[in-house]
Amino acid sequence: MDLPKVKGKLEKDYPLKTLNTWKTGGRAEMVFWPQNMNELTEMVIWSKIQHKPLLFLGHGSNVLLPDKGFPGTVIVTTQLNGARWENEQVWTEAGYSLMRLAREAAERNCSGLEFACGIPGTVGAAIAINAGAYGKEIGELVRNVKVLTSEGEIKTLDRKEISFRYRKSSLQENNWIILESSLRLTAAEDGTAIKAKMKEFMAKRKETQPLEYPNAGSVFRNPQGDSAGRLIEQAGWKGKCVGDAQVSEKHANFIVNRGNAKSENILQLIQDIQADILMKYGVKLETEIRMITG
Ligand SMILES: Cc1cc2nc3c(=O)[nH]c(=O)nc-3n(C[C@H](O)[C@H](O)[C@H](O)COP(=O)(O)OP(=O)(O)OC[C@H]3O[C@@H](n4cnc5c(N)ncnc54)[C@H](O)[C@@H]3O)c2cc1C
Repeated sequence: MDLPKVKGKLEKDYPLKTLNTWKTGGRAEMVFWPQNMNELTEMVIWSKIQHKPLLFLGHGSNVLLPDKGFPGTVIVTTQLNGARWENEQVWTEAGYSLMRLAREAAERNCSGLEFACGIPGTVGAAIAINAGAYGKEIGELVRNVKVLTSEGEIKTLDRKEISFRYRKSSLQENNWIILESSLRLTAAEDGTAIKAKMKEFMAKRKETQPLEYPNAGSVFRNPQGDSAGRLIEQAGWKGKCVGDAQVSEKHANFIVNRGNAKSENILQLIQDIQADILMKYGVKLETEIRMITG
């Protein structure tokens, strides 16, 4: 069966390291950037008929991609970036930048997305994994989500039909792809307080996070009532390396790529930390990042 005729960029044998913020991984058999929802669904159908594994990516800021590459189709949503505002409600396509949306919300005097101003992902992925910071989560703002189910059906779900928990959603558990969503923000008198909050959050991030090196944000979820970073630091992991992968000297829950790290180096550090924290404190650390296997 011929590949569908599409306008979106299509690349074969493409380096995964250009598609994620850790800058690691092998090559993908094929990468596709759909220009619209029809192209996306056509490529999903084509890949299923060809029995090709499928991987959806936004900005690749929460994934560890395999060094051996991905033997199938990677669909990158970043060209699906339409948005429409109606008072304090905003509708976006899956690939819209969350940081851009947070800035636009502030310009429109809409409150609710201040927490998201330093999260370098897409809105679609943020909803799939219920991204959050500073005590807020995107799930709290969701009104509707249009999804592509694993059976190839397109459905619009109401907020009540979706469950959001700490960095988890029923959408991702069902392997459903987010196509579009609408968020409800809160109208504010003026944007000054919103912008001040965002400035404060960005300053905090710059001070505490190793933004000067490729990374994927927090590697581990916080265990109930504790902080993963605190446990890892206390166990003496700050600065430890495997190859060019290093537990950040600034924030122990970040692993940075100091140059030429491979995904296997990062994975080794993750597994060594998990074993050590279990042995020392009896705590099983779960990863927040998504480990993609080829
Ligand atoms: C410096 C830094 C700081 C960060 N700070 C935070 C933070 O404060 N809070 C936080 O929650 N996260 C944080 N992150 C992690 C990350 O930015 C967020 O989780 C973000 O929402 C991921 O978006 P993405 O587009 O990069 O997703 P990707 O990494 O591309 O994908 C993540 C997962 O979602 C799936 N996915 C992608 N698109 C879709 C879709 N349309 N439908 C369904 N599934 C999809 C992917 O298959 C993958 O499993 C940080 C990352 C970095 C690098």
